[in-house]
Amino acid sequence: MQIVVVDSSQVVLRVIGSLLEARGHTVHEFTESDAALEFLTVAPDVRVLITSLEVRPMNGLELCWAVRLLAEDRRPLHIITMSSANSVHNLAEALDSGADDFIEKPPRAEELHARLRAAERMTKLQEELIRLAETDGLTGLLNRRAFRERTEAAVARVTPLRRPSLIVVDIDHFKRINDVHGHDIGDRAICAVAHLFQEEGIVGRLGGEEFGIFLPERDRDSAIFHAEGLRVRVRALRIACGDGTVGLTCSFGVSTWSEGDTIPAMLKRADIALYEAKAAGRNRVMVETRPTSFTTPIRTSVS
Ligand code: GH3
Ligand code: MG
Ligand code: MG
Repeated sequence: MQIVVVDSSQVVLRVIGSLLEARGHTVHEFTESDAALEFLTVAPDVRVLITSLEVRPMNGLELCWAVRLLAEDRRPLHIITMSSANSVHNLAEALDSGADDFIEKPPRAEELHARLRAAERMTKLQEELIRLAETDGLTGLLNRRAFRERTEAAVARVTPLRRPSLIVVDIDHFKRINDVHGHDIGDRAICAVAHLFQEEGIVGRLGGEEFGIFLPERDRDSAIFHAEGLRVRVRALRIACGDGTVGLTCSFGVSTWSEGDTIPAMLKRADIALYEAKAAGRNRVMVETRPTSFTTPIRTSVS
């Protein structure tokens, strides 16, 4: 596991660090709590923080609070506080400040390892819960909520030099596939399409047979090109069904980020373009109407 250890003494840090490294852990040592917090902010793979209560400039309890806020419920992170004053008061205060465990300083090797085994069990469980909460059970893609969260985080990092685009896709006449071939074949079709889409960008299943594809590095023309490529590949798909196969098509709506844009607004514009693709006969890519640039929806394909 990746472990951050914070203590004002280099000697204590080295003692704990070498105990942990001997068991195969990767250790990041800090004598100051603010540097540790800064590191934790940019190192999402850290699973355990071991901090002494007697650290500066933030004390150990304040560091616990700050890290808890950082981790929220979306990040598996186990916090162990340590103090040489092993009082019930210290223990209670640490747990109330967001710590998961408390250990005497300097820790005994066997006790430290046992507590880390417990931490590993807890963080693995947390990781699995987070994965389940974010994943669509049928396709393994992000579910709608996780798609919104990931794309909103990506939009927050956008610069005008790299305009992302968003594609909303819906399988055409999907009810027919279910009605004629059965729900299981319908499920198989959804999975096959999902598999194609997940090759690039942030991809989610927005609902039944509807998908979102967020392309962080593709502007309007590049996104149209990508959607058109997917459209052709979906049309070529063959889903095994009894002795034969079933074919299908999808319709695509594309929107591109502009200054001040948000994911809900991009989704809405891509949805309108998708609706236009459906109305124009399906199996095609349509692009949002942009009042600012006076573009009209373009039809990039017919069959
Ligand atoms: P259109 O071309 O206008 O999109 O037609 P459509 O038949 O695809 O339209 P609609 O969106 O009304 O139908 C979607 C169907 O998808 C309805 C629902 O029963 C089915 N569906 C939703 N989720 C699932 C799923 O997980 N598995 C299967 N097999 N079917 C699903
Ligand atoms: Mg449909
Ligand atoms: Mg639909």
